[in-house]
Amino acid sequence: MIARVSLEIALRKEFDYLIPTELAGQIDVGSRVQVPFGPRKILGVVTAVAEESGHANLKPILKVIGSQTLVTPKVLKLARWIGEYYCCAPETALKSVLPEAVRKEKEGWKKERLIRVLQLIGEFPKLTARQQEVWHIIEERREMLLPELLKVSKATISVVRKLEDLKLVEITSEISERDPYAKETILASQPIVLNPTQAVALKEIKTAMDGQKPETRNPTSDLRPLTSTFLLHGVTGSGKTEIYLQAIAHALEQGKGAIVLVPEISLTPQTVERFKARFSSGKLQTLVAVLHSHLSAGERHDEWHKIRDGRARIVIGARSAIFAPVEPLGLVIVDEEHESTYKQEESPRYHARDVAVMRGQMEGAVVVLGSATPSMESFYNCQRGKFTLLNLLERVDNQKMPHVRVVDMRQAMFKEKGPPLFSPQLKEAIHKRLDRGEQTILFLNRRGYSTSLQCPKCGYVANCPNCSVSLTYHRIEQKLSCHICGHNEKVPSVCPEPKCKNPAIRFAGTGTQKVEEVLAKLFPKARIKRMDADTMKRKDDYRHVLGDFRAGKIDILVGTQMIAKGLHFPNVTLVGIIYADSALHQPDFRAGERTFQLLTQVAGRAGRGDVEGEVFVQAFTPFHPAIQYARRHDFVGFYEQETEFRAQLKYPPFARVALLTLKGRNEDKVKFSAEHLKRELEKTAAEVKDLIVSGPSPAPLLRAENFYRYQIMLRTRAMSRLSQALAKITATLTLPDEVTLAVDIDPVNLS
Ligand code: ADP
Ligand code: ZN
Repeated sequence: MIARVSLEIALRKEFDYLIPTELAGQIDVGSRVQVPFGPRKILGVVTAVAEESGHANLKPILKVIGSQTLVTPKVLKLARWIGEYYCCAPETALKSVLPEAVRKEKEGWKKERLIRVLQLIGEFPKLTARQQEVWHIIEERREMLLPELLKVSKATISVVRKLEDLKLVEITSEISERDPYAKETILASQPIVLNPTQAVALKEIKTAMDGQKPETRNPTSDLRPLTSTFLLHGVTGSGKTEIYLQAIAHALEQGKGAIVLVPEISLTPQTVERFKARFSSGKLQTLVAVLHSHLSAGERHDEWHKIRDGRARIVIGARSAIFAPVEPLGLVIVDEEHESTYKQEESPRYHARDVAVMRGQMEGAVVVLGSATPSMESFYNCQRGKFTLLNLLERVDNQKMPHVRVVDMRQAMFKEKGPPLFSPQLKEAIHKRLDRGEQTILFLNRRGYSTSLQCPKCGYVANCPNCSVSLTYHRIEQKLSCHICGHNEKVPSVCPEPKCKNPAIRFAGTGTQKVEEVLAKLFPKARIKRMDADTMKRKDDYRHVLGDFRAGKIDILVGTQMIAKGLHFPNVTLVGIIYADSALHQPDFRAGERTFQLLTQVAGRAGRGDVEGEVFVQAFTPFHPAIQYARRHDFVGFYEQETEFRAQLKYPPFARVALLTLKGRNEDKVKFSAEHLKRELEKTAAEVKDLIVSGPSPAPLLRAENFYRYQIMLRTRAMSRLSQALAKITATLTLPDEVTLAVDIDPVNLS
């Protein structure tokens, strides 16, 4: 017998190996194996098993990793699709479906030595006083960890060995499973009675899971195609999670499992607890495995095996959890489906939401995408009948949406002679909250103190030596720092231009540090806390600050994106967005969409309790549609307006984009290579009829970490065909040594 193996090196080629007799029966499709490759030993995955090979002189497989196949045939098929569609080496795609800790050659289990009381045979032996003492401790517990015994009894190992010799106890080495949530106490929860809109949504999902045709509600919807994907459009607090929980219960009843994807940042202990609590007891009891980047490698290994063994039927995790070996799979949920973190920014550059839809299709599982602000792509898929739209437009508790006021900062600026941080309206609103003992959240998507250092005399701007961005001034740390590459330097006291040396250098632009400082001056008695990447350095920082905020020990929380999502604080009745339009003026066709999403999300933090919430959106372009539609909580209105412009310019969702980025240290070489690539592309363009090629042009971030970057953007409706063409071109393309090409299909980040 021979096995075809995909090695862990991106060769875009598979190799045949002999299955030696001693390993026969242990190797199947999906097995992880170690094989000789030249002088090296390399790990790989078996992709096929056959009687014979077309090649002679095959070398034997050296060993099998793990006691079972690690990549299930279904996940293998999914990895193949990723390789083809995202135009990357199949080996790279395959590598990404297993966590590092599972892929390793060394067994990942943690072993512990246990000591256990044995059934006594014959007469009880005579013991010394010391032995007697130690024996009593073990006897009482019946079984305990050996290191613990040694610690408690203060005995030496030789005393314990004596007891072992006397056949009173045995010492074994056993796998001890790590549980990242072992310390949490989880109280069982019961399903909630759904309100009528929730019930309709759940019924549709369950019907699809049962494989029946959805009920036709009116004669005109007869032509509605049967889809496997749902888009659950519901504001925060509209009861989406409760629907997920009940749909998962249905999957378990059918003997199937479920995968729940959430953005990394919302994967808080509270979220996990909600899922664990529902399935911690009763007839649907199952383990809930959790996969995310804050787990230790060992924990990740054990969580993964709980899924592979079928003990955990539910997986909740970030992006890569979409590859979890849940079998059979009944349901995939992608919460906050519009989130850009679902896109992996290194090869394989897959989008977990799109992979989820594909996996659902391949395995006949129902996919539910949930969001308060769906992506243009998903909503468009509903409009053309590819997905089914389920609306959940009211909060469960019938609470009103917060009142959003847009403040025209041009007027405030006129009055104050320079851009102020706080309009009089926002200042007054904060005062009121402080008087009433209510809490405020202030949002600004820039950390640091000032966003640039300029010399008003000669025009000098402090730029990063490695990247084409200006350095941000961090006042507390007294440094200038680059938010792209992390470069830091001292703050000059005079303009560094030798001929200028002007001491009156100026800091421009605002970051969260400055907001905090100005706030402290305006409201000296308020308890203020800042939450951004600079203050949240350790794992626990986030939890502590949120804990203090919840406990009412903080009046005003200032922060970046970090505070935009998923937080629920009943006493927050005011949210202020310092500069709403800062995200609008970016060279990205999604700038408007992102601003709309961000404003809606941040605004959603206000008024989650009994008091109606108020939101102040400060903007220099107050009439921009992204701001105005967010003010009215009008997603559909925004969608219609936004898609009009996208349709005209043939941007997603009306076409798909492939972004080719060439990078290297020598700008001329990069530019030349980009032009060469463009000519190659144009030759192949005939195969893809509607292809639009734009560029090459310098990337918006021309220089990052000392690399120059040029881009070519391709747009087409037929992305699969373009991916095939790109695979062919890249296979034969020759680039200068120091220039590399990255292909990003359906890119999210265009910089
Ligand atoms: P979302 O996921 O849309 O933010 P959740 O499912 O978390 O909404 O619901 C918000 C809150 O309302 C939760 O505390 C949840 O337990 C509760 N809830 C959900 N559905 C109902 C219902 N039908 N009746 C009463 N409370 C509900
Ligand atoms: Zn830099």
